[in-house]
Amino acid sequence: ADRTPLAQRSPEELATYLERQRRAYAALTERGLRLDLTRGKPSTAQLDLSDALLRLPDGVTDADGVDVRNYGGLSGLRELREMFAELLWVDPDQLVAGGSSSLTMMHDVLVQHLLHGGVDSPRPWRDEDKVTFVCPVPGYDRHFTMLASYGIEMLTVPMRGDGPDVDAVESLVRDDPSVKGMWVVPTYANPSGSVVTQEVAGRLAAMPAAAPDFRIFWDNAYALHHLTSNEAKSADILSLASAAGHPHRPVMFASTSKITYAGAGVAFLAASRENVAAYLGHQQFASIGPDKVNQLRHVQFFGSAEGVRQHMVRHREILAPKFAAVDAALTAALGGLGVAEWTRPAGGYFVSLDVLDGCAARVVTLAKEAGIALTPAGASFPHGADPRDRNIRLAPSFPELEEVETAMAGVATCVALAAAERLSDVG
Ligand code: PMP
Repeated sequence: ADRTPLAQRSPEELATYLERQRRAYAALTERGLRLDLTRGKPSTAQLDLSDALLRLPDGVTDADGVDVRNYGGLSGLRELREMFAELLWVDPDQLVAGGSSSLTMMHDVLVQHLLHGGVDSPRPWRDEDKVTFVCPVPGYDRHFTMLASYGIEMLTVPMRGDGPDVDAVESLVRDDPSVKGMWVVPTYANPSGSVVTQEVAGRLAAMPAAAPDFRIFWDNAYALHHLTSNEAKSADILSLASAAGHPHRPVMFASTSKITYAGAGVAFLAASRENVAAYLGHQQFASIGPDKVNQLRHVQFFGSAEGVRQHMVRHREILAPKFAAVDAALTAALGGLGVAEWTRPAGGYFVSLDVLDGCAARVVTLAKEAGIALTPAGASFPHGADPRDRNIRLAPSFPELEEVETAMAGVATCVALAAAERLSDVG
């Protein structure tokens, strides 16, 4: 195939290319596909890896002799906290094992800060004139919709390969006391796949903030979700912040949603001892204790932190070929044409695809009409508005490998057609 960048082709060559893509697209729509690359859900084969959970727990008492069927133990089973403290590089006393959703814990922490303030807040955030968060983009849509639901303003900074653009973050946080927090997905970010380096983490932990109660919502949802044997180690944000004199700045979240069951895993929160005490202090009015039966099941299923790591290798064996298929399909159809860039993540659940400016919504519409559901264009930006209309989040985990191959060949056709249309209009 001709690999000349589309932008360098003559009007006649471009017209030929456009015609070819129109025919390819017409053939695609005639296939009557029904494929879905919208959400980062584990596949059935991945869920099956954890089905031993359905026959656990064996017995009803934990190592301390606690009857897990009863009320109590708000901070979660000690054994499970010890296991995940090792994996998340935190102290077990600073780790809470909660319900099945870390998103719920993030929401609870946010609402607690709005209603009560944090351990170092001059007043509840609701009593501030304005609350603003720094949002690296592209980012996780549910982070942004959560903030939007409380009227919190969002300032975007670019997400780079080594994490958020830290110069931009520093300048937003330094002078504006309304900036109370920021989102960071430190490992294999949704959707960029970026991993926050030690250096960037150190600067985020140490940067001066106008708000004394500035918080980093450190959402380590993909801490253990490697796609290669080169396993990224998440920066130890709690120690970095503590050493820099901002011990209460980070609140870390994680869960087993993409380790065991997305709908019935265990979620975790880690922070300074004071932050944990404040969190549980509010939580005691909302719960008499988490689902300890499920927590004990997880303890027995994994056996140890090493058991969790081994289990993640089995996920990798299922997921890695799907990510390779995404890259292969995009490279085959679009490589060298100068109409798309995409990530080749070493972990996590997403590929971030940037098409020509002004083309993302068109690509998603074309794909939809061909029976391929993609995450709405702009979803990775606050209020769903991508100022350049170029980013598309691809989620290849759920469909079977063959479906990923078919869907991605189709997506590539849509990208090529949208680019040819755009360049022809301009030319
Ligand atoms: N954070 C990120 C960055 C995610 O991508 C997801 C799932 N898509 C979640 C949190 C949700 O986590 P949980 O299932 O623990 O609520």
